[in-house]
Amino acid sequence: MTAPDATIRTRAKPGRTLPRPAPIPVYHSADYGCAAEDFDTTRKAGWIREADRQAPIPGIEWRAPAPATAAQLARVHLPRYVEAVRTGVPADLACSQGFAWDPGLWRSACAMAGGFLAAMDAALQDGAAGTLSSGQHHARADQGMGFCTFNGLVLAAHRALEQGARSVLIVDLDAHCAGGTHSMIRDDERIGQLDVALNCFDVYTPGSGESLDVVRRARDYLPVITRRLAELDARGARFDACVYYAGMDPHEHSVLGGLRGIDAGVLRAREQLLFGWCRERALPVAFGIGGGYTSPRFTQAQLVALHRLTLEACVQSRRGAPHGAGVLAGAGREREARSASAGAAHPGSVPR
Ligand SMILES: [Zn+2]
Repeated sequence: MTAPDATIRTRAKPGRTLPRPAPIPVYHSADYGCAAEDFDTTRKAGWIREADRQAPIPGIEWRAPAPATAAQLARVHLPRYVEAVRTGVPADLACSQGFAWDPGLWRSACAMAGGFLAAMDAALQDGAAGTLSSGQHHARADQGMGFCTFNGLVLAAHRALEQGARSVLIVDLDAHCAGGTHSMIRDDERIGQLDVALNCFDVYTPGSGESLDVVRRARDYLPVITRRLAELDARGARFDACVYYAGMDPHEHSVLGGLRGIDAGVLRAREQLLFGWCRERALPVAFGIGGGYTSPRFTQAQLVALHRLTLEACVQSRRGAPHGAGVLAGAGREREARSASAGAAHPGSVPR
């Protein structure tokens, strides 16, 4: 796919330097880490942000999101569950993600969900954006699970649809299966899911418009992702936005989900593959950071370095290609032109 009009002007004339690409908005606020529960999922966003203060990744613009409101959350979650997380009652529901409840848990979950909403808005505007939100993809409409309280991935997908997208692809490369996300989108043909996991936790049976692979050998990991992306192209799938959950728990030293042979080099290549695929298709992408866990043999600094791979790859994918306003509209116009020239009906939604 050629670039939409907004990006064609990137070709430099002889003797001219390329214009500096716009920075990538990445969302974070102190509220991400305000839950009393002391765990990687509730703390690592702050670690990553602090690491960037010490050693900034060029090309990132840090922004604080507005927290998701109860009304926004209730568009994809049952109000009873949202209220339980807000109040802590009933306790079994409020703590269904596996954390002890305190008022900070509600603030943290709302901030991280709001980060996904803001990142999607920014991605639709500028082409790519991210949030340091984790603990999302196991959450169901009616409860939490596996350290995941609210599902910002599904919220972001719905946000894109509300903004005019006709179809949205959720790519989940966390080590664990995204059964929570699946349970919330399986009846919505406008949202597709590509899920490549290494561990059967939260496994599910993918429906039409979805794929799930549980990879057992490190050497198969990148080829499976590549093949699944190529299959989308081969099927003629068309998307107007992508939500990407960039888990780093596939790393061989992650105590939860890791697979021997998947190292930082593999994960760097994965990030370059995914963002390059989106970039080549002028597909707006909003990412979150997903899983990734410390242990006595895997330090906080090592985990932060892995998550920085996602930020670096996103920035690098945009180098030399400014992404002006209205990417969604631009991409849509291009697809319509292509469909018209091919005499085909508008592809619109995910092939089922
Ligand atoms: Zn995981």
